[in-house]
Amino acid sequence: MGPEWGQSPSLTMPIFEYSCNACHHEFETLVRTGDTPACPKCAATALTKLLSLPAIKSESTHDLAMRAAHRRDKIQQSEKNREQREYELNHDD
Ligand SMILES: [Zn+2]
Repeated sequence: MGPEWGQSPSLTMPIFEYSCNACHHEFETLVRTGDTPACPKCAATALTKLLSLPAIKSESTHDLAMRAAHRRDKIQQSEKNREQREYELNHDD
């Protein structure tokens, strides 16, 4: 699946995070209108809704976090390189 996946509104689905009241298992599930979500572990339907999440949350936020971290590393690296070059320029006369 390419990076475009999930950007089309037609693929956006409501994903909700629940905590099971019976076994306290936390899970994310797709909930369409009329669906009653059930715990995947014990099948209980007594659940506490934790928060609503945008679709494909885990994959996309991980990806974004990774990209942000890479960008930060690159910036730090280029600043280091520049400092090194300036140091060499100033001490090479
Ligand atoms: Zn459960």
